[in-house]
Amino acid sequence: MSNFDVIVIGSGVNGLSSAALLAKRGKRVLVLESNDCCGGAVRTEEVTLPGFKHDLFATNLSLFAGGPIMAALKDDLIRNGLEFVPSSKPFISLFPDGKSLGIVMDRETNIATLRKVAPNDVESWQALTALLGKFAPHLFPLLGAELPSFAAAKSIFKTWRALGTTGLFQLIRLLLQSSRAFTEEYFVHPETKALAAIWGMHLDYGPDISGGALFSFLESIGGQEFGMVLGKGGADTLVKSLTSVITENGGTIKVSSKVVEIITENEKAIGVRTADGAVFNAKNIIANVNPALIPELLNSKISSSQNVAEVKKFRPGLSTMMIHLAMDDLPPWSATQAKEFNYIHIAPYIDDLAMTYTQAAAGLLPSSPALVIGQPTVTDSSRAPAGKHVLWIQVRVLPLDIKGDARGEISGNTWDQIGEQYADRIIEIIENYAPGIKSKILSRKVLTPTDLERYNVNLIKGDSLGGSHHPAQFFFLRPTPSWNRHRTPIDGLFICGSGTWPGGGVGGGSGAMVAKIIR
Ligand SMILES: Cc1cc2nc3c(=O)[nH]c(=O)nc-3n(C[C@H](O)[C@H](O)[C@H](O)COP(=O)(O)OP(=O)(O)OC[C@H]3O[C@@H](n4cnc5c(N)ncnc54)[C@H](O)[C@@H]3O)c2cc1C
Repeated sequence: MSNFDVIVIGSGVNGLSSAALLAKRGKRVLVLESNDCCGGAVRTEEVTLPGFKHDLFATNLSLFAGGPIMAALKDDLIRNGLEFVPSSKPFISLFPDGKSLGIVMDRETNIATLRKVAPNDVESWQALTALLGKFAPHLFPLLGAELPSFAAAKSIFKTWRALGTTGLFQLIRLLLQSSRAFTEEYFVHPETKALAAIWGMHLDYGPDISGGALFSFLESIGGQEFGMVLGKGGADTLVKSLTSVITENGGTIKVSSKVVEIITENEKAIGVRTADGAVFNAKNIIANVNPALIPELLNSKISSSQNVAEVKKFRPGLSTMMIHLAMDDLPPWSATQAKEFNYIHIAPYIDDLAMTYTQAAAGLLPSSPALVIGQPTVTDSSRAPAGKHVLWIQVRVLPLDIKGDARGEISGNTWDQIGEQYADRIIEIIENYAPGIKSKILSRKVLTPTDLERYNVNLIKGDSLGGSHHPAQFFFLRPTPSWNRHRTPIDGLFICGSGTWPGGGVGGGSGAMVAKIIR
Protein backbone atom coordinates (compact mmCIF):
# COMPACT_ATOMS: atom_id res chain seq x y z
CA MET A 1 0.00 0.00 0.00
CA SER A 2 1.42 3.40 -0.98
CA ASN A 3 0.29 6.86 0.08
CA PHE A 4 -0.05 9.82 -2.24
CA ASP A 5 -1.55 13.29 -2.02
CA VAL A 6 -3.55 12.76 -5.17
CA ILE A 7 -4.46 9.75 -7.28
CA VAL A 8 -5.66 10.46 -10.80
CA ILE A 9 -7.67 7.63 -12.35
CA GLY A 10 -7.17 7.82 -16.11
CA SER A 11 -4.62 9.58 -18.26
CA GLY A 12 -6.76 11.49 -20.75
CA VAL A 13 -5.77 15.06 -21.53
CA ASN A 14 -7.62 16.30 -18.45
CA GLY A 15 -6.26 13.69 -16.06
CA LEU A 16 -2.72 14.36 -17.25
CA SER A 17 -3.25 18.12 -17.11
CA SER A 18 -4.48 18.02 -13.52
CA ALA A 19 -1.62 15.69 -12.57
CA ALA A 20 0.98 17.94 -14.21
CA LEU A 21 -0.33 21.06 -12.46
CA LEU A 22 -0.51 19.32 -9.10
CA ALA A 23 2.92 17.69 -9.41
CA LYS A 24 4.34 21.09 -10.25
CA ARG A 25 2.71 22.42 -7.09
CA GLY A 26 4.66 19.82 -5.13
CA LYS A 27 1.88 17.27 -4.61
CA ARG A 28 2.77 13.58 -4.60
CA VAL A 29 0.75 12.44 -7.59
CA LEU A 30 -0.03 8.97 -8.93
CA VAL A 31 -1.70 8.49 -12.31
CA LEU A 32 -3.27 5.07 -12.96
CA GLU A 33 -4.17 4.22 -16.54
CA SER A 34 -5.86 1.00 -17.61
CA ASN A 35 -4.43 1.05 -21.16
CA ASP A 36 -0.82 0.23 -21.91
CA CYS A 37 -0.20 3.86 -22.88
CA CYS A 38 -1.37 7.29 -21.76
CA GLY A 39 -3.55 9.78 -23.59
CA GLY A 40 -7.04 8.30 -23.84
CA ALA A 41 -8.62 9.89 -26.91
CA VAL A 42 -5.30 11.47 -27.88
CA ARG A 43 -3.20 8.71 -29.43
CA THR A 44 -0.95 8.50 -32.48
CA GLU A 45 -0.03 5.16 -34.04
CA GLU A 46 1.12 3.59 -37.28
CA VAL A 47 -2.07 1.57 -37.68
CA THR A 48 -1.96 1.19 -41.46
CA LEU A 49 1.59 0.93 -42.79
CA PRO A 50 5.02 1.60 -41.25
CA GLY A 51 5.92 5.29 -41.43
CA PHE A 52 2.29 6.48 -41.64
CA LYS A 53 1.39 8.15 -38.34
CA HIS A 54 -2.31 8.41 -37.64
CA ASP A 55 -4.00 10.39 -34.90
CA LEU A 56 -6.39 7.59 -34.01
CA PHE A 57 -8.90 9.95 -32.38
CA ALA A 58 -8.41 13.69 -31.73
CA THR A 59 -6.21 15.57 -34.15
CA ASN A 60 -7.11 19.27 -33.82
CA LEU A 61 -5.22 20.69 -30.83
CA SER A 62 -6.45 24.28 -31.14
CA LEU A 63 -8.31 24.15 -27.83
CA PHE A 64 -5.18 23.07 -25.99
CA ALA A 65 -2.96 25.61 -27.74
CA GLY A 66 -5.24 28.42 -26.58
CA GLY A 67 -6.19 26.86 -23.25
CA PRO A 68 -5.31 27.15 -19.58
CA ILE A 69 -2.71 24.35 -19.42
CA MET A 70 -0.65 25.94 -22.14
CA ALA A 71 -0.91 29.24 -20.30
CA ALA A 72 0.26 27.64 -17.04
CA LEU A 73 2.86 25.14 -18.27
CA LYS A 74 4.01 26.44 -21.66
CA ASP A 75 7.76 26.47 -20.90
CA ASP A 76 7.67 23.07 -19.21
CA LEU A 77 5.73 21.51 -22.07
CA ILE A 78 7.93 22.96 -24.77
CA ARG A 79 11.10 21.92 -22.91
CA ASN A 80 9.61 18.43 -22.82
CA GLY A 81 9.07 18.28 -26.55
CA LEU A 82 5.63 19.78 -27.22
CA GLU A 83 5.57 21.09 -30.76
CA PHE A 84 2.61 22.51 -32.65
CA VAL A 85 2.14 22.98 -36.38
CA PRO A 86 -0.31 25.73 -37.28
CA SER A 87 -2.58 25.54 -40.29
CA SER A 88 -3.64 28.83 -41.85
CA LYS A 89 -6.14 27.05 -44.10
CA PRO A 90 -8.27 25.36 -41.47
CA PHE A 91 -11.43 24.16 -43.27
CA ILE A 92 -13.40 23.94 -46.48
CA SER A 93 -16.89 22.63 -47.24
CA LEU A 94 -17.52 20.80 -50.50
CA PHE A 95 -20.89 20.65 -52.21
CA PRO A 96 -22.39 18.16 -54.68
CA ASP A 97 -22.70 20.73 -57.49
CA GLY A 98 -18.94 21.27 -57.46
CA LYS A 99 -19.03 24.47 -55.38
CA SER A 100 -16.77 24.81 -52.37
CA LEU A 101 -16.36 27.33 -49.58
CA GLY A 102 -13.06 27.45 -47.73
CA ILE A 103 -12.06 29.63 -44.80
CA VAL A 104 -8.47 30.74 -44.37
CA MET A 105 -6.78 32.87 -41.75
CA ASP A 106 -7.18 36.03 -43.76
CA ARG A 107 -10.32 38.14 -43.65
CA GLU A 108 -9.86 39.71 -47.08
CA THR A 109 -9.38 36.37 -48.79
CA ASN A 110 -12.52 35.03 -47.12
CA ILE A 111 -14.52 38.03 -48.25
CA ALA A 112 -13.26 37.50 -51.80
CA THR A 113 -14.26 33.81 -51.62
CA LEU A 114 -17.70 34.67 -50.25
CA ARG A 115 -18.20 37.28 -52.98
CA LYS A 116 -17.79 34.51 -55.54
CA VAL A 117 -19.68 31.68 -53.82
CA ALA A 118 -22.17 33.42 -51.51
CA PRO A 119 -22.23 37.15 -52.33
CA ASN A 120 -25.28 37.93 -50.20
CA ASP A 121 -23.54 36.66 -47.08
CA VAL A 122 -20.51 38.94 -47.19
CA GLU A 123 -22.02 41.56 -44.90
CA SER A 124 -23.20 38.99 -42.38
CA TRP A 125 -19.78 37.33 -42.32
CA GLN A 126 -18.24 40.71 -41.57
CA ALA A 127 -20.87 41.35 -38.90
CA LEU A 128 -20.12 37.99 -37.27
CA THR A 129 -16.40 38.70 -37.38
CA ALA A 130 -17.13 41.92 -35.49
CA LEU A 131 -19.46 40.05 -33.12
CA LEU A 132 -16.70 37.58 -32.20
CA GLY A 133 -14.47 40.54 -31.40
CA LYS A 134 -17.24 41.95 -29.21
CA PHE A 135 -18.21 38.71 -27.44
CA ALA A 136 -14.85 36.93 -27.18
CA PRO A 137 -13.46 38.94 -24.24
CA HIS A 138 -16.59 37.96 -22.26
CA LEU A 139 -17.35 34.52 -23.62
CA PHE A 140 -13.89 32.98 -23.26
CA PRO A 141 -13.50 33.81 -19.55
CA LEU A 142 -16.97 32.40 -18.93
CA LEU A 143 -16.18 29.19 -20.82
CA GLY A 144 -13.00 28.91 -18.74
CA ALA A 145 -14.70 29.47 -15.38
CA GLU A 146 -15.98 26.87 -12.95
CA LEU A 147 -19.80 26.71 -13.21
CA PRO A 148 -21.53 27.80 -11.10
CA SER A 149 -19.01 29.90 -9.24
CA PHE A 150 -18.34 33.36 -7.94
CA ALA A 151 -15.79 33.83 -10.77
CA ALA A 152 -18.49 33.01 -13.34
CA ALA A 153 -20.96 35.38 -11.68
CA LYS A 154 -18.29 38.11 -11.72
CA SER A 155 -17.61 37.41 -15.36
CA ILE A 156 -21.34 37.70 -16.18
CA PHE A 157 -21.54 40.93 -14.21
CA LYS A 158 -18.56 42.35 -16.11
CA THR A 159 -20.19 41.31 -19.38
CA TRP A 160 -23.35 43.14 -18.36
CA ARG A 161 -21.32 46.24 -17.48
CA ALA A 162 -19.52 46.13 -20.84
CA LEU A 163 -22.36 45.09 -23.16
CA GLY A 164 -25.43 46.33 -21.32
CA THR A 165 -28.56 44.31 -20.72
CA THR A 166 -29.37 43.97 -24.40
CA GLY A 167 -25.83 42.86 -25.24
CA LEU A 168 -25.84 40.29 -22.46
CA PHE A 169 -29.22 38.97 -23.57
CA GLN A 170 -27.96 38.76 -27.18
CA LEU A 171 -25.10 36.62 -25.94
CA ILE A 172 -27.46 34.37 -23.96
CA ARG A 173 -29.67 34.06 -27.03
CA LEU A 174 -26.66 32.91 -29.03
CA LEU A 175 -25.88 30.31 -26.37
CA LEU A 176 -29.41 28.92 -26.65
CA GLN A 177 -30.00 29.04 -30.41
CA SER A 178 -29.84 26.04 -32.68
CA SER A 179 -27.34 26.18 -35.52
CA ARG A 180 -30.19 26.23 -38.05
CA ALA A 181 -31.82 29.24 -36.35
CA PHE A 182 -28.47 30.99 -36.09
CA THR A 183 -27.40 30.39 -39.69
CA GLU A 184 -30.85 31.29 -41.06
CA GLU A 185 -30.72 34.53 -39.15
CA TYR A 186 -27.39 35.52 -40.64
CA PHE A 187 -27.00 33.79 -43.98
CA VAL A 188 -28.90 33.48 -47.23
CA HIS A 189 -26.81 31.00 -49.18
CA PRO A 190 -27.11 27.30 -48.33
CA GLU A 191 -23.33 26.93 -48.62
CA THR A 192 -22.58 29.47 -45.88
CA LYS A 193 -25.28 28.03 -43.63
CA ALA A 194 -23.79 24.55 -44.06
CA LEU A 195 -20.22 25.79 -43.57
CA ALA A 196 -21.15 27.02 -40.10
CA ALA A 197 -23.73 24.39 -39.08
CA ILE A 198 -21.39 21.43 -39.61
CA TRP A 199 -19.37 22.65 -36.63
CA GLY A 200 -22.35 21.94 -34.39
CA MET A 201 -22.25 18.33 -35.63
CA HIS A 202 -18.63 18.03 -34.46
CA LEU A 203 -20.21 18.15 -31.04
CA ASP A 204 -23.62 16.71 -30.51
CA TYR A 205 -25.72 19.30 -32.19
CA GLY A 206 -27.89 18.39 -35.14
CA PRO A 207 -28.99 21.65 -36.77
CA ASP A 208 -32.24 21.75 -34.81
CA ILE A 209 -30.82 21.16 -31.34
CA SER A 210 -30.77 24.14 -29.02
CA GLY A 211 -27.21 25.14 -28.15
CA GLY A 212 -25.56 24.36 -31.50
CA ALA A 213 -25.21 28.00 -32.55
CA LEU A 214 -22.35 28.69 -30.18
CA PHE A 215 -20.05 26.14 -31.80
CA SER A 216 -21.14 27.01 -35.31
CA PHE A 217 -20.27 30.62 -34.55
CA LEU A 218 -17.07 30.12 -32.56
CA GLU A 219 -15.52 27.53 -34.83
CA SER A 220 -16.35 29.10 -38.17
CA ILE A 221 -15.35 32.65 -37.32
CA GLY A 222 -12.68 31.40 -34.89
CA GLY A 223 -11.10 29.38 -37.72
CA GLN A 224 -10.66 32.60 -39.63
CA GLU A 225 -9.20 34.44 -36.64
CA PHE A 226 -7.04 31.71 -35.09
CA GLY A 227 -6.57 28.99 -37.75
CA MET A 228 -6.10 25.43 -36.54
CA VAL A 229 -3.29 23.75 -34.63
CA LEU A 230 -1.95 20.21 -35.03
CA GLY A 231 0.73 18.36 -33.09
CA LYS A 232 4.10 18.00 -34.85
CA GLY A 233 4.48 14.34 -35.76
CA GLY A 234 1.11 13.53 -34.20
CA ALA A 235 -1.27 14.69 -31.50
CA ASP A 236 0.58 12.53 -29.00
CA THR A 237 3.32 15.17 -28.74
CA LEU A 238 0.90 16.57 -26.17
CA VAL A 239 0.70 13.33 -24.21
CA LYS A 240 4.47 12.77 -24.24
CA SER A 241 5.20 16.27 -22.99
CA LEU A 242 2.50 16.21 -20.29
CA THR A 243 3.69 12.85 -18.96
CA SER A 244 7.27 14.14 -18.90
CA VAL A 245 6.20 17.21 -16.91
CA ILE A 246 4.49 14.91 -14.39
CA THR A 247 7.49 12.62 -13.92
CA GLU A 248 10.09 15.40 -13.85
CA ASN A 249 8.12 16.88 -10.97
CA GLY A 250 8.20 13.63 -9.03
CA GLY A 251 4.85 12.22 -10.16
CA THR A 252 4.35 8.52 -10.82
CA ILE A 253 2.48 7.08 -13.80
CA LYS A 254 1.42 3.45 -13.96
CA VAL A 255 -0.04 2.13 -17.20
CA SER A 256 -1.85 -1.23 -17.50
CA SER A 257 -3.34 -0.38 -14.09
CA LYS A 258 -7.11 -0.47 -14.29
CA VAL A 259 -8.85 0.91 -11.22
CA VAL A 260 -11.63 -1.48 -10.28
CA GLU A 261 -12.65 0.05 -6.97
CA ILE A 262 -12.64 3.44 -5.30
CA ILE A 263 -12.19 2.58 -1.64
CA THR A 264 -14.26 4.58 0.82
CA GLU A 265 -14.27 4.89 4.60
CA ASN A 266 -17.09 6.69 6.39
CA GLU A 267 -18.35 7.81 2.96
CA LYS A 268 -15.02 9.47 2.15
CA ALA A 269 -12.82 8.26 -0.74
CA ILE A 270 -9.48 7.19 0.66
CA GLY A 271 -7.88 5.06 -2.03
CA VAL A 272 -8.24 2.80 -5.02
CA ARG A 273 -7.74 -0.85 -5.86
CA THR A 274 -6.41 -1.90 -9.25
CA ALA A 275 -7.29 -5.04 -11.20
CA ASP A 276 -4.11 -6.79 -10.02
CA GLY A 277 -5.18 -6.27 -6.39
CA ALA A 278 -2.78 -3.42 -5.57
CA VAL A 279 -4.12 -0.74 -3.21
CA PHE A 280 -3.05 2.91 -3.28
CA ASN A 281 -4.16 5.50 -0.77
CA ALA A 282 -4.46 9.26 -1.16
CA LYS A 283 -6.12 12.29 0.42
CA ASN A 284 -7.77 13.20 -2.88
CA ILE A 285 -8.87 11.15 -5.82
CA ILE A 286 -9.57 12.63 -9.24
CA ALA A 287 -11.49 10.41 -11.63
CA ASN A 288 -10.83 11.20 -15.30
CA VAL A 289 -13.59 8.71 -15.92
CA ASN A 290 -16.91 9.10 -17.72
CA PRO A 291 -19.18 10.06 -14.79
CA ALA A 292 -21.75 7.42 -15.76
CA LEU A 293 -19.12 4.73 -15.06
CA ILE A 294 -18.15 5.93 -11.59
CA PRO A 295 -20.97 4.22 -9.63
CA GLU A 296 -19.55 0.87 -10.84
CA LEU A 297 -16.33 1.70 -8.99
CA LEU A 298 -18.10 2.37 -5.68
CA ASN A 299 -19.54 -0.07 -3.20
CA SER A 300 -23.20 -0.90 -3.64
CA LYS A 301 -24.39 1.05 -0.60
CA ILE A 302 -22.86 4.29 -1.88
CA SER A 303 -23.65 3.72 -5.53
CA SER A 304 -27.34 3.19 -4.79
CA SER A 305 -27.67 6.38 -2.76
CA GLN A 306 -29.82 8.91 -4.58
CA ASN A 307 -27.18 11.56 -5.29
CA VAL A 308 -24.72 9.02 -6.63
CA ALA A 309 -27.25 7.05 -8.66
CA GLU A 310 -28.33 10.31 -10.36
CA VAL A 311 -25.18 10.23 -12.49
CA LYS A 312 -26.26 7.01 -14.19
CA LYS A 313 -28.76 9.20 -16.08
CA PHE A 314 -25.87 11.00 -17.82
CA ARG A 315 -26.51 10.26 -21.50
CA PRO A 316 -24.01 9.58 -24.25
CA GLY A 317 -24.16 11.64 -27.41
CA LEU A 318 -24.54 9.92 -30.78
CA SER A 319 -21.54 7.95 -31.87
CA THR A 320 -18.68 8.25 -34.30
CA MET A 321 -16.40 6.06 -36.34
CA MET A 322 -12.94 6.73 -37.70
CA ILE A 323 -11.40 5.63 -40.98
CA HIS A 324 -7.65 6.03 -41.30
CA LEU A 325 -6.11 5.89 -44.75
CA ALA A 326 -2.49 5.61 -45.83
CA MET A 327 -2.40 7.41 -49.16
CA ASP A 328 -0.13 7.32 -52.16
CA ASP A 329 -1.12 10.94 -52.76
CA LEU A 330 -3.73 13.45 -51.61
CA PRO A 331 -7.26 12.76 -52.85
CA PRO A 332 -7.89 14.04 -56.38
CA TRP A 333 -10.50 16.57 -55.18
CA SER A 334 -12.69 17.97 -57.95
CA ALA A 335 -12.47 21.28 -56.08
CA THR A 336 -8.69 21.33 -56.47
CA GLN A 337 -8.10 23.98 -53.81
CA ALA A 338 -9.31 21.46 -51.19
CA LYS A 339 -5.80 19.94 -51.33
CA GLU A 340 -4.50 22.87 -49.32
CA PHE A 341 -6.96 22.66 -46.42
CA ASN A 342 -6.63 20.89 -43.12
CA TYR A 343 -10.27 19.82 -42.68
CA ILE A 344 -12.65 19.05 -45.51
CA HIS A 345 -16.33 18.87 -44.67
CA ILE A 346 -18.66 16.80 -46.80
CA ALA A 347 -22.00 17.25 -45.09
CA PRO A 348 -23.29 18.78 -47.43
CA TYR A 349 -26.32 21.05 -46.63
CA ILE A 350 -28.26 21.77 -43.43
CA ASP A 351 -31.19 19.54 -44.34
CA ASP A 352 -28.75 16.70 -44.95
CA LEU A 353 -27.30 17.25 -41.49
CA ALA A 354 -30.78 17.20 -39.99
CA MET A 355 -31.62 13.99 -41.87
CA THR A 356 -28.38 12.33 -40.76
CA TYR A 357 -28.97 13.34 -37.16
CA THR A 358 -32.54 12.02 -37.16
CA GLN A 359 -31.59 8.76 -38.83
CA ALA A 360 -28.80 8.13 -36.31
CA ALA A 361 -30.98 9.08 -33.35
CA ALA A 362 -33.61 6.60 -34.62
CA GLY A 363 -30.99 3.83 -34.71
CA LEU A 364 -30.44 3.84 -38.46
CA LEU A 365 -27.11 3.84 -40.25
CA PRO A 366 -27.29 7.23 -41.95
CA SER A 367 -27.65 7.11 -45.70
CA SER A 368 -25.07 9.84 -46.20
CA PRO A 369 -23.47 10.91 -42.93
CA ALA A 370 -21.47 14.10 -42.42
CA LEU A 371 -17.75 13.60 -42.98
CA VAL A 372 -14.86 15.49 -41.46
CA ILE A 373 -11.79 14.63 -43.48
CA GLY A 374 -8.48 15.67 -41.97
CA GLN A 375 -5.45 16.03 -44.20
CA PRO A 376 -2.74 16.49 -41.55
CA THR A 377 0.14 15.80 -43.92
CA VAL A 378 -0.72 18.98 -45.83
CA THR A 379 0.54 20.90 -42.79
CA ASP A 380 2.86 18.31 -41.25
CA SER A 381 4.71 16.19 -43.80
CA SER A 382 6.58 14.37 -41.02
CA ARG A 383 3.60 12.06 -40.52
CA ALA A 384 4.15 10.02 -43.68
CA PRO A 385 7.02 8.90 -45.93
CA ALA A 386 8.13 11.51 -48.52
CA GLY A 387 5.36 12.36 -50.96
CA LYS A 388 2.81 10.17 -49.17
CA HIS A 389 -0.11 11.21 -46.97
CA VAL A 390 -2.48 10.12 -44.25
CA LEU A 391 -6.21 10.87 -44.17
CA TRP A 392 -8.21 11.11 -40.95
CA ILE A 393 -11.90 10.56 -41.61
CA GLN A 394 -14.45 11.10 -38.88
CA VAL A 395 -18.04 10.01 -39.54
CA ARG A 396 -20.72 12.05 -37.78
CA VAL A 397 -23.13 10.95 -36.47
CA LEU A 398 -23.95 7.27 -35.95
CA PRO A 399 -26.51 5.35 -33.91
CA LEU A 400 -25.71 4.17 -30.40
CA ASP A 401 -27.53 0.91 -31.19
CA ILE A 402 -27.98 -0.22 -34.77
CA LYS A 403 -31.60 -1.02 -35.64
CA GLY A 404 -31.30 -0.86 -39.41
CA ASP A 405 -29.87 0.94 -42.40
CA ALA A 406 -31.52 4.07 -43.78
CA ARG A 407 -30.62 2.86 -47.30
CA GLY A 408 -31.79 -0.68 -46.58
CA GLU A 409 -28.53 -2.08 -47.99
CA ILE A 410 -26.57 -3.20 -44.93
CA SER A 411 -27.87 -5.83 -42.56
CA GLY A 412 -26.43 -6.76 -39.19
CA ASN A 413 -26.68 -4.96 -35.91
CA THR A 414 -23.17 -5.03 -34.50
CA TRP A 415 -20.31 -2.86 -35.64
CA ASP A 416 -18.02 -5.89 -35.77
CA GLN A 417 -20.33 -7.31 -38.44
CA ILE A 418 -20.88 -4.23 -40.55
CA GLY A 419 -18.03 -1.80 -39.85
CA GLU A 420 -16.03 -2.49 -43.02
CA GLN A 421 -19.17 -2.43 -45.18
CA TYR A 422 -20.21 0.91 -43.75
CA ALA A 423 -16.68 2.23 -44.29
CA ASP A 424 -17.06 1.26 -47.98
CA ARG A 425 -20.12 3.52 -48.10
CA ILE A 426 -18.05 6.39 -46.78
CA ILE A 427 -15.32 5.89 -49.37
CA GLU A 428 -18.00 5.79 -52.12
CA ILE A 429 -19.36 9.13 -50.87
CA ILE A 430 -15.88 10.67 -50.96
CA GLU A 431 -15.32 9.23 -54.44
CA ASN A 432 -18.11 11.56 -55.66
CA TYR A 433 -16.01 14.54 -54.59
CA ALA A 434 -12.61 13.07 -55.42
CA PRO A 435 -13.04 10.70 -58.37
CA GLY A 436 -10.26 8.13 -58.34
CA ILE A 437 -9.50 8.37 -54.62
CA LYS A 438 -9.76 4.59 -54.27
CA SER A 439 -6.71 4.06 -56.47
CA LYS A 440 -4.66 6.26 -54.11
CA ILE A 441 -5.44 4.25 -50.96
CA LEU A 442 -2.50 2.09 -49.90
CA SER A 443 -4.09 0.76 -46.72
CA ARG A 444 -6.97 1.51 -44.39
CA LYS A 445 -7.87 0.98 -40.76
CA VAL A 446 -11.46 1.29 -39.64
CA LEU A 447 -12.21 2.07 -35.99
CA THR A 448 -15.90 1.51 -35.39
CA PRO A 449 -17.82 2.93 -32.41
CA THR A 450 -17.27 -0.43 -30.71
CA ASP A 451 -13.52 -0.16 -31.32
CA LEU A 452 -13.51 3.35 -29.84
CA GLU A 453 -15.05 2.02 -26.64
CA ARG A 454 -12.53 -0.86 -26.63
CA TYR A 455 -9.70 1.68 -26.80
CA ASN A 456 -11.22 3.91 -24.14
CA VAL A 457 -14.08 2.90 -21.82
CA ASN A 458 -15.06 6.56 -21.50
CA LEU A 459 -16.26 6.58 -25.11
CA ILE A 460 -19.47 4.76 -24.27
CA LYS A 461 -20.91 3.12 -27.41
CA GLY A 462 -18.52 5.22 -29.48
CA ASP A 463 -19.66 8.63 -28.22
CA SER A 464 -16.54 10.64 -28.96
CA LEU A 465 -17.42 13.37 -26.49
CA GLY A 466 -17.85 11.52 -23.21
CA GLY A 467 -21.53 12.46 -22.85
CA SER A 468 -24.05 14.43 -24.86
CA HIS A 469 -23.57 18.20 -24.82
CA HIS A 470 -27.24 19.06 -25.10
CA PRO A 471 -28.20 21.94 -22.79
CA ALA A 472 -29.67 19.63 -20.11
CA GLN A 473 -26.17 18.21 -19.54
CA PHE A 474 -24.03 21.25 -20.26
CA PHE A 475 -22.75 24.34 -18.45
CA PHE A 476 -23.55 24.06 -14.73
CA LEU A 477 -25.61 20.92 -15.39
CA ARG A 478 -22.61 18.82 -16.56
CA PRO A 479 -22.73 15.96 -15.85
CA THR A 480 -25.76 16.31 -13.52
CA PRO A 481 -27.09 18.92 -11.10
CA SER A 482 -25.46 17.36 -8.03
CA TRP A 483 -22.16 16.34 -9.67
CA ASN A 484 -21.21 19.73 -11.09
CA ARG A 485 -18.17 21.87 -10.17
CA HIS A 486 -15.90 18.80 -10.53
CA ARG A 487 -17.11 17.53 -7.19
CA THR A 488 -19.05 14.38 -6.45
CA PRO A 489 -21.37 13.57 -3.54
CA ILE A 490 -18.43 11.61 -2.08
CA ASP A 491 -15.97 13.52 0.03
CA GLY A 492 -12.44 13.38 -1.43
CA LEU A 493 -13.61 12.22 -4.87
CA PHE A 494 -13.39 14.73 -7.70
CA ILE A 495 -14.02 14.41 -11.42
CA CYS A 496 -12.57 15.82 -14.60
CA GLY A 497 -12.73 14.92 -18.28
CA SER A 498 -15.05 15.52 -21.16
CA GLY A 499 -18.06 14.41 -19.11
CA THR A 500 -17.57 17.45 -16.92
CA TRP A 501 -17.63 21.17 -17.64
CA PRO A 502 -16.38 22.59 -20.06
CA GLY A 503 -17.03 19.37 -21.96
CA GLY A 504 -15.34 17.45 -24.75
CA GLY A 505 -12.27 18.43 -26.68
CA VAL A 506 -8.55 18.44 -26.16
CA GLY A 507 -8.55 21.55 -24.01
CA GLY A 508 -7.49 20.46 -20.55
CA GLY A 509 -10.01 22.91 -19.06
CA SER A 510 -11.56 20.53 -16.55
CA GLY A 511 -8.11 19.27 -15.56
CA ALA A 512 -7.14 22.84 -14.75
CA MET A 513 -10.36 23.45 -12.81
CA VAL A 514 -10.10 20.31 -10.71
CA ALA A 515 -6.44 20.99 -9.91
CA LYS A 516 -7.50 24.34 -8.46
CA ILE A 517 -9.89 22.67 -6.02
CA ILE A 518 -7.29 20.32 -4.53
CA ARG A 519 -5.67 21.76 -1.42
C1 LIG B 1 -12.61 9.98 -32.72
C2 LIG B 1 -12.45 11.23 -31.92
C3 LIG B 1 -12.03 12.39 -32.52
C4 LIG B 1 -11.89 13.55 -31.77
N1 LIG B 1 -11.40 14.68 -32.37
C5 LIG B 1 -11.12 15.75 -31.62
C6 LIG B 1 -10.35 16.82 -32.16
O1 LIG B 1 -9.87 16.76 -33.28
N2 LIG B 1 -10.13 17.89 -31.34
C7 LIG B 1 -10.60 17.95 -30.08
O2 LIG B 1 -10.39 18.98 -29.40
N3 LIG B 1 -11.29 16.92 -29.53
C8 LIG B 1 -11.51 15.82 -30.27
N4 LIG B 1 -12.14 14.75 -29.71
C9 LIG B 1 -12.58 14.82 -28.31
C10 LIG B 1 -11.40 14.71 -27.37
O3 LIG B 1 -10.44 13.84 -27.88
C11 LIG B 1 -11.85 14.19 -26.02
O4 LIG B 1 -12.97 14.96 -25.57
C12 LIG B 1 -10.75 14.31 -24.98
O5 LIG B 1 -9.51 13.83 -25.47
C13 LIG B 1 -11.18 13.54 -23.76
O6 LIG B 1 -10.25 13.72 -22.72
P1 LIG B 1 -10.58 13.24 -21.26
O7 LIG B 1 -9.70 14.01 -20.36
O8 LIG B 1 -12.02 13.27 -21.03
O9 LIG B 1 -10.06 11.73 -21.17
P2 LIG B 1 -10.18 10.46 -22.09
O10 LIG B 1 -9.56 10.72 -23.40
O11 LIG B 1 -11.54 9.92 -22.06
O12 LIG B 1 -9.19 9.48 -21.34
C14 LIG B 1 -9.50 8.91 -20.10
C15 LIG B 1 -8.53 7.80 -19.80
O13 LIG B 1 -8.94 7.20 -18.58
C16 LIG B 1 -8.74 5.83 -18.66
N5 LIG B 1 -9.62 5.18 -17.68
C17 LIG B 1 -10.97 5.21 -17.63
N6 LIG B 1 -11.42 4.46 -16.61
C18 LIG B 1 -10.32 3.98 -15.98
C19 LIG B 1 -10.13 3.15 -14.85
N7 LIG B 1 -11.16 2.64 -14.17
N8 LIG B 1 -8.87 2.85 -14.46
C20 LIG B 1 -7.81 3.36 -15.14
N9 LIG B 1 -7.94 4.13 -16.23
C21 LIG B 1 -9.18 4.44 -16.65
C22 LIG B 1 -9.07 5.48 -20.09
O14 LIG B 1 -8.44 4.28 -20.47
C23 LIG B 1 -8.50 6.69 -20.84
O15 LIG B 1 -7.18 6.47 -21.24
C24 LIG B 1 -12.23 13.55 -30.42
C25 LIG B 1 -12.64 12.38 -29.79
C26 LIG B 1 -12.71 11.21 -30.52
C27 LIG B 1 -13.09 9.92 -29.84
